[in-house]
Amino acid sequence: MNIVILLGAPGSGKGTIAGRLASEDANLKHVSSGDLLRGAVAKGTPAGQAAKAAMEAGQLVADEIIAEMIKDVIAETQGDVTMLLDGFPRNVKQAEVLEAINAPIKSAVLVDVPDEIIADRIAGRRTCPKCKAGYHVKALPPKVEGICDKCGTALTIRKDDNPDTVKDRLVVYHRETEPLIKFYEAKGLLRKIDGNQGPEKNAAAFKAAM
Ligand code: AMP
Repeated sequence: MNIVILLGAPGSGKGTIAGRLASEDANLKHVSSGDLLRGAVAKGTPAGQAAKAAMEAGQLVADEIIAEMIKDVIAETQGDVTMLLDGFPRNVKQAEVLEAINAPIKSAVLVDVPDEIIADRIAGRRTCPKCKAGYHVKALPPKVEGICDKCGTALTIRKDDNPDTVKDRLVVYHRETEPLIKFYEAKGLLRKIDGNQGPEKNAAAFKAAM
């Protein structure tokens, strides 16, 4: 098993890229920290209850909560698999958790999208609450409006995708997550792609870079 970290702002397309690549290649496994946390919130587990308020406010949940979940997923992933780790680490402390367990990190790929474009992207974002497939009303519309192509479930808008919370999430990204670019650069693991080429080209560029 090895790990490719997806770095990039909320709305940069990390989840879309990882989801698309994993659906095309059985050896790629998409692990999204946001999906793990949303699942825990929906189930009402103790971790979910502890994470809920921070998520709704666009802030990071406590490092320990998400670190335990990610360590579990890493521990149970074996064999000839590349894990596309989307949303973790989100700060240097979380990156150090991966160092401490000697996680086999192959690369960290930055999906680069300017802040000006992010708000628009997130405004059109729709998600399948059941299979987690992601759509965009303009850039990646489902075949039938409002319905997931893959499982037929009605698409939803994430609670934290409202414009005010998005602003807060971008502030958090620049303050907490952006330092990881230097962190992985110093280790010689950083790659960078232009995340503004459309879903198909973004995914191809990511695959070539990772
Ligand atoms: P995402 O789906 O990656 O945009 O994550 C949605 C929300 O889940 C974030 O705004 C945070 O509140 C929380 N979250 C996801 N990943 C992490 C993480 N690695 N550390 C702390 N909070 C996280």
